[in-house]
Amino acid sequence: MARLIFRKNSPPSSISPENWASWHWQLQNSLRSQIDFGRHFELSENEKSAFAQGGELFNIRTTPYYANLCGQALEDPIRRILMPRREELSPGAQQMHDPLGEKVNSPVPRIIHRYSDRVLFLVTDVCSVYCRYCTRKYFTGQDQAFLTETEFKTAIEYIKSRPGIREVILSGGDPLTLNNNRLEQILFALRQIEHVEIIRLGTRMPVVCPQRIDGSLVRLLQKMKPVYVMTHFNHPREITEEAATALELFVDHGIPVLNQMVLLNGVNNHPAIVQALSRRLLFLRAKPYYMFQCDPSLGTDHLRTSVEESLKIQRELWGHLSGLALPQLSLDIPQGGGKTSLVPDFQIAHNGQTRTYRGWDGVEADYVSPAPELSILPMDVEDYEEEWNQLRSARSPNLGQ
Ligand code: SF4
Repeated sequence: MARLIFRKNSPPSSISPENWASWHWQLQNSLRSQIDFGRHFELSENEKSAFAQGGELFNIRTTPYYANLCGQALEDPIRRILMPRREELSPGAQQMHDPLGEKVNSPVPRIIHRYSDRVLFLVTDVCSVYCRYCTRKYFTGQDQAFLTETEFKTAIEYIKSRPGIREVILSGGDPLTLNNNRLEQILFALRQIEHVEIIRLGTRMPVVCPQRIDGSLVRLLQKMKPVYVMTHFNHPREITEEAATALELFVDHGIPVLNQMVLLNGVNNHPAIVQALSRRLLFLRAKPYYMFQCDPSLGTDHLRTSVEESLKIQRELWGHLSGLALPQLSLDIPQGGGKTSLVPDFQIAHNGQTRTYRGWDGVEADYVSPAPELSILPMDVEDYEEEWNQLRSARSPNLGQ
């Protein structure tokens, strides 16, 4: 097997290497209008008419770095992620303003409490790219860079008042578009809450602006440990030399990295592309974690795969990628139903205690379960029951309504 190579994303000759290497420059010089995009791309009639719809469309933005990764072909996978198209305004099979039902699971502004043990904390609505398939279009891209003082205090008080909350997921928007002072303020406040064990940080910056990941950021995250970074690479071409350096900086500083990709039509909906992405990530010590079915948010029909196609991709990957490299195919049940795993069904018969399976390469065998009366409880279960019950009672206020 050829050694994995990560290509450098060199700046165009008109941009100095110093500017290119600055994340502030990248954000300040983001492409946002038809004129900006027209300087980098030969725009198609379809794309021009999408830009002309202006305010009817989800916000448009990308860093020069990410635009430079994108080819001129109209169906270039990265172009499909970042460039608006007329299809976004066509009626589709399912078009939802808030597909995950987050608004009804938001007990206080900026907090989404859907699962017992964790909350999402939306610390900014700004992203360095506005992905055309974004599930949170109702919130992101409204240019409210940081939450207000009242929102911040209310959110922290909410988390403090519920001892069952063990994980806080910083999201948005992209938390890494905030500067280190703002980030430290949030992380520090969370670290004062005894029951918050894990902080997760969801970000697309290693993909779109890897210049953001530097020594001072990783030292800050290291200081606030345990912090997990959830990246969002969708295509192997996004893993450049710069992105690889960013991922290694996290891991070298003891910050685990997990990747959540979205299966997207015309972008990565082939097992060859998913395996290429997963192997590269794993080589860089970033665990391919989820492979999400694209949510039916407004204007995404042309980017979504069918469940059948997604399952077929997962089935093909099954026998060829190790468990470490294989992301878990998962679908968010619309209207806040939570996640469900989509697993290829290998069971072909079930009779009493015997289940028959046919594996990915055709091997058939029985698995015979022990008799149910042999099942006993672990003798020390009581030691852990109180913790378990506390967790279960930390349900979101809206659950069960
Ligand atoms: S980076 Fe995430 S939150 Fe921002 S637009 Fe893309 S998918 Fe949506």
